[in-house]
Amino acid sequence: MEEYRKIWANCLQVIKDNVNSHAYDTWFAPIVPSRLIDNVLTIEVPTSFFYEYLEEHYIDLLRKTLRKELGSGAKLEYSVNVVNGAPSLKYPTQNQPEIKNPGIPYPPYSNTKGEPQILNPFIIPGLKKLEIPPQLNPEYNFANFIEGKCNSLARSAGLSIAEQPGKTAFNPIFIYGNSGLGKTHLAQAIGIETKKLHPDKIVIYLDARKFESQYVDAAINKNKVNDFLYFYQMIDVLIIDDIHEFAGKTGTQNTFFHIFNHLQQMGKQLVLTSDKPPVELQGVEQRLLSRFKCGLFAELELPDLETRIAILKQKIYNDGIVISDEVIEYLASNIKANIRELRGALVSLLAQSTLLKKEITVELASEMLSKLVNTAKKEISLDQIIKIVCERFGLTLEKLLSQTKKREIALPRQIAMYLSLHYTKNSSAYIGAQFGGKDHTTVIYAGKHIKDLMDTDTEFRNTVLNLEKKMKISEF
Ligand code: ADP
Ligand code: MG
Repeated sequence: MEEYRKIWANCLQVIKDNVNSHAYDTWFAPIVPSRLIDNVLTIEVPTSFFYEYLEEHYIDLLRKTLRKELGSGAKLEYSVNVVNGAPSLKYPTQNQPEIKNPGIPYPPYSNTKGEPQILNPFIIPGLKKLEIPPQLNPEYNFANFIEGKCNSLARSAGLSIAEQPGKTAFNPIFIYGNSGLGKTHLAQAIGIETKKLHPDKIVIYLDARKFESQYVDAAINKNKVNDFLYFYQMIDVLIIDDIHEFAGKTGTQNTFFHIFNHLQQMGKQLVLTSDKPPVELQGVEQRLLSRFKCGLFAELELPDLETRIAILKQKIYNDGIVISDEVIEYLASNIKANIRELRGALVSLLAQSTLLKKEITVELASEMLSKLVNTAKKEISLDQIIKIVCERFGLTLEKLLSQTKKREIALPRQIAMYLSLHYTKNSSAYIGAQFGGKDHTTVIYAGKHIKDLMDTDTEFRNTVLNLEKKMKISEF
């Protein structure tokens, strides 16, 4: 057996022990490993939604498993299986299936074959007319973005922007809302529509983490920061997703500030998304926040039942499947808080019905949902952790996040940092920023300190374990 197959088979063994059979059948069994080059394992997933769902739910498990097999330098890449080589289905800008990458560090804009990629911020094009692939996923277009009360402002502003990028009052547009409510989809739809209406405009989509890692690379290779700046300053529509990730990263924020100012002065369009409204973005510099105010803040809210039904129906229609209205309504009534989960439930239901050779009925859907609730480990948020720790120690939020070094406050704060490091995907810099502007080294130190205490003091250990238990209960 080729090595990559062996490696993936080993990973699957571990994964099998960590997720229930239902989740395993739905999300892992369909994965096909395709290559292993320099510690980068590439796995093929059936649709880009799989990538999205795996990223949201299983990234930690995948990361740990892979590192166990390949060591700490292990990396994972996804490629979306384009059926029968019909590239227009997914990623028309690529000749080969797009490689998507999860939160595991990877070299920006290089693929595993080491083939040159056109989009390279460190190569300054001599010609303005350079073709730069916008890195957009064609599935995330306006036609697929169902309108509802929850998104009508953001959606119509997005459409106006695509018609006249940089020329509307919505510059920047700052799209915010909870996870799974359509921020990435809408931001990309703006990019896709702009490209459709103005093929000559340079549109680029990237997430804040990618921007940051490019900036860090540029900063390490001295002199490259200017190249980095020039590259981003010639873009007509710059879309940066999840900018809350910039929290606590001063260098990246500074650079972004320059790019932002330049683009805005030149009448170029900025599209930003975040999981929080600007006022709640701790760790982001005031001067940057005040720049956002020049444009439009557009919130994506929870979709109502009617919208949830419409979203499911559209998905079902696109996939060419038939499911009764009764089942659709059942799913839409039971999954309210997150559109990604809603779509995930549909994929699970289809997988179950195929595997069990059972018809898709409300009964099957309800069976599936009961399993889903037990397994779909939603990541706990920093806010929830802080709340639980405050409650346990009888502290107010202000006290916990204050600068005081008094032990009765500092220790709970360190516990909360420790829990945040272990139970969320956030970086130590981000966590520090959320804890009243602490440095990332403070967070790392807190993590170590609490672990040491737990190893030496049983009572203390139980206190932390009890908090962990509480967090698990409050996840749903
Ligand atoms: P976020 O970036 O806010 O976490 P996404 O944009 O990734 O959320 O959306 C999660 C999933 O829900 C995606 O698969 C997306 O296509 C789908 N989705 C979100 N909003 C809508 C909508 N209004 N219509 C159709 N699908 C949607
Ligand atoms: Mg997103």
